[in-house]
Amino acid sequence: MKKCLTCNANYASTASNCSVCGGAPEMQGSMPLYAPALAQEGGGFKASYFAELAHLEADNFWFRARNRLIVWALEKYYSGFQSLLEIGCGTGYVLSSIAQAFPRARLQGAELFVAGLDFAAARQPTIDFMQMDARQIPFVDEFDVIGAFDVLEHIEEDELVLKQMHAALKARGIILLTVPQHTWLWSPVDNYACHVRRYSAQELHRKVEGAGFEVLRSTSFVSSLLPAMWVSRFAQKKSLKEIDATAEFRISPWLNRMLEKILGLEIRMIRHGINFPLGGSRLVVARKK
Ligand SMILES: [Zn+2]
Repeated sequence: MKKCLTCNANYASTASNCSVCGGAPEMQGSMPLYAPALAQEGGGFKASYFAELAHLEADNFWFRARNRLIVWALEKYYSGFQSLLEIGCGTGYVLSSIAQAFPRARLQGAELFVAGLDFAAARQPTIDFMQMDARQIPFVDEFDVIGAFDVLEHIEEDELVLKQMHAALKARGIILLTVPQHTWLWSPVDNYACHVRRYSAQELHRKVEGAGFEVLRSTSFVSSLLPAMWVSRFAQKKSLKEIDATAEFRISPWLNRMLEKILGLEIRMIRHGINFPLGGSRLVVARKK
């Protein structure tokens, strides 16, 4: 069901207007804007970064490996899902992999910034996109799966977002989260990326469970590259005044291939049930109780 952000009533997902107050989101072409006041520069991210990102992510080992991990987690924990909402879908790169792996699922992408959605809609014309504030999700009891991949760390009110995700999920629905991990890895790169925090496993579990979920799986990843990451970021802390946060993405093709192979091995171990304690990122799969 949709939830009216004007009067809080629930109404049919297929209706365009609230059945109680008649309210409807502003539209930009076929795209609903549920939080139009924040659509350009809503905070937590630099809208200009999307152009750069769209260019980098398709070839980059980290984005490619993360997609493999996400698709694997969907297959493992909810292979028969019919509907999925991705919060903070950015340029739609993750959704494009999900659409390939699950061609029959109904996919929706939500993003605060219209700039990201323009890339996303151009890339995936079959997926529905909307502009939305994750702190006010205009759905109740609607999705089998909600994903937020490297999104929560941008939002001050992460617990509120988790509760909103809980409400928007159907009974027994699952969330898939990835977040940057370890406070001691905090560096200027995090500042540049507008991160509010890096998580510990304990903090994320506490917040996820506090929102009404049961954790099904939790593991670090990018574990094998942790020493290299630490060196790279520690060096930056010391020497760089001007941060070049995308430098980690602009690496030579052979190194990119090698790193993707290393992360591929890691994913294979995760598939076999290994949970890594340490790593640059953390994946959590949790089910609505
Ligand atoms: Zn209403």
